[in-house]
Amino acid sequence: MRSIVAMKAGGPEVLAEVTGSDPEPGPGQILVEVLAAGVNFIDTYLRSGLYPMAYPSTLGREGAGHVIAVGEGVTSYGEGDLVAWFDQSGSYADRAVIEADHALRVPDGIGAGTAAAVALQGLTAHYLVTSSHPVAEGETVLVHAGAGGVGLLLTQMAVARGARVLATTSSDKKAELARGAGADAVLRYDEYADISTDLPREVRELTDGAGVNAVYDGVGRATFDGSLASLAPRGSLVVFGGASGPVPPLDIQRLNRAGSVFLSRPTLVDFTADRNERAWRAEELFGAVADGSLDVRIGHRYPLAEAAEAHRALEGRATTGKVLLIP
Ligand code: NDP
Repeated sequence: MRSIVAMKAGGPEVLAEVTGSDPEPGPGQILVEVLAAGVNFIDTYLRSGLYPMAYPSTLGREGAGHVIAVGEGVTSYGEGDLVAWFDQSGSYADRAVIEADHALRVPDGIGAGTAAAVALQGLTAHYLVTSSHPVAEGETVLVHAGAGGVGLLLTQMAVARGARVLATTSSDKKAELARGAGADAVLRYDEYADISTDLPREVRELTDGAGVNAVYDGVGRATFDGSLASLAPRGSLVVFGGASGPVPPLDIQRLNRAGSVFLSRPTLVDFTADRNERAWRAEELFGAVADGSLDVRIGHRYPLAEAAEAHRALEGRATTGKVLLIP
């Protein structure tokens, strides 16, 4: 098998292609021929050393492909089944061993590329709009990086739940994509002189001074202050990532000054730990893809061997929608 291994903590140059023998699925596991592996921001945090990881380690948590062997005790899947996953390590490879219990069956009509593109970011968008701050009809919410992988899905899901979405992006092309996903207004946060004051000013202009009911912020350090100041009283700031870097420690008195607001820093694993919850979210997600109500944009496909290029593009703000590696 071929896999992409982070040899040590560092930049994209620490990624190396390694060849070895195919793994065997253990009890409760399946061996999958990976047809597409998802590239996610968390892969860059693990590669860079921002999040702890043992090195060397094969990167990638998300993918889709055909089952080619099943381990002892596995009855739910057989050879040839198309499955996807979002929380299993070692997906930047042409073979991956997956816990059968964590595999998601891909419904007919959805291809491996789409399944790999929507599994992790789609489940993330789903828990954000249903659980972190459950979007209610008539609300206005702000989605940062609205043309990104999570951003395009989150915007569509929030609109489907009856919200008006304001989205931030950094280019005309990205603004057009965010509008295509349903954003009512697009804010060019890259053009602000001071994002901490210019963002809330523009948000308040667009909301008759009220501010937004929720901000979904995966950009983190660069946007945090502006996000907090954009909320309506009793609004929710959901910081779900740090594409620009982690948010520094915070004085909680700022939350009362911002209007008795709620702050959370959620992570997907806590919203998919329970098997029934995973199944519910996956069913709603794949159902929306299958019936055409959720559009999945695959912005970039790289050969597996070019994983480092994919990381450079993602970290360099050069991507839109999903980035896939094709073994
Ligand atoms: P995206 O496709 O959204 O790419 C990141 C985007 O962030 C960029 O395209 C860029 O959009 C924006 N950005 C703003 N500032 C910077 C910067 N300094 N450097 C790089 N990018 C910047 O990535 P994902 O959809 O994979 O992830 C989005 C966020 O969601 C990440 O923070 C990720 O960690 C988080 N996440 C969190 C999960 C959770 O459960 N907590 C699960 C999945 C993802 P623009 O050019 O428009 O500014």
